[in-house]
Amino acid sequence: MGTDPLALADLLRVSNTPGFERWREQVRRTGGCSDPIHLSGTTVTRDRATGDVLYSYSTADEPGGRLRVACGNRRASRCPSCAWTYAGDTYHLIRAGITGDDRKNVPATVRDHPRVFATLTAPSFGPVHNRPDRGACRCGARHPENDPVLGTALDPESYDYAGAVLFNNHAGQLWQRFTNRLRRELAARAGLTQRELKDVLRVSYGKVAEFQKRGAIHFHAVIRLDGPNGPDTVPPSWATVQLLDDAIRAAAVHAYTTITVPAAGDQPLRRFQWGRQLDIRPVKAFGDGSDITEQAVAAYVAKYATKAAETTGSLDRRIGNREVLDL
Ligand SMILES: [Zn+2]
Ligand SMILES: [Zn+2]
Repeated sequence: MGTDPLALADLLRVSNTPGFERWREQVRRTGGCSDPIHLSGTTVTRDRATGDVLYSYSTADEPGGRLRVACGNRRASRCPSCAWTYAGDTYHLIRAGITGDDRKNVPATVRDHPRVFATLTAPSFGPVHNRPDRGACRCGARHPENDPVLGTALDPESYDYAGAVLFNNHAGQLWQRFTNRLRRELAARAGLTQRELKDVLRVSYGKVAEFQKRGAIHFHAVIRLDGPNGPDTVPPSWATVQLLDDAIRAAAVHAYTTITVPAAGDQPLRRFQWGRQLDIRPVKAFGDGSDITEQAVAAYVAKYATKAAETTGSLDRRIGNREVLDL
């Protein structure tokens, strides 16, 4: 901290305020949240039979008459501190899911279970400005990395904006259908019925949604095959990484893995499926180049868990009034 005289005076004033210790305790407990929620009010707990007061609390006794609670926002643009806490929690949760962690009741033997890191993308809603690995954008330009035009429609007249919004809104349901279908594909490959599959295998996954530049959601997921009772149980020997890979590819493009949004107003009926880009990589404990390592997956997933629409340079909050839009 610099020695700005105004800040220094403020610091001295605050540190000499009665209740400073309690205030500092509150700040510490919010983990340094940048936008704490200020609560005020009272709570009284009474014995139901006698009516005696067992516990009472009032924020009137707190510094400034308020209790500060961490905002808990997961987006780094809104609260770096709370988002960081969330990213750490997510990292450990995902990491436990792929390497095992006694403290989280996931045995280390899950490392031997077939598991992949899969990315399921949104379909196209019309061509957008991009930076292809080779050559120029379809508009003829070679866009610099931070060009605000990236991800925007080449032809705004024909781009299906409503479709893009509707897809994001239904992406969770599409994921549900995908996982249902995945179980069927696994069962079919083993020559089992769905019911029989449950007795020998369970599909576990952890996923995060990421906004692409064009604003469409895509999913990153760690998908793992466990025995019938989860991570503690061994999956059947036929459940290989190759079989899982095959089943995911089949499930992703199957007709069942479709969301139908009925026509409404001037909007036509739409059917959504995943985009053609599908990336599946086996997760290995140690990287040999082609595969992705456990650490990399966990860090990647945690990173995206805290990044929201802000990564696209668009708004990450509700638009309350036009001034917010800064048009
Ligand atoms: Zn916060
Ligand atoms: Zn372009």
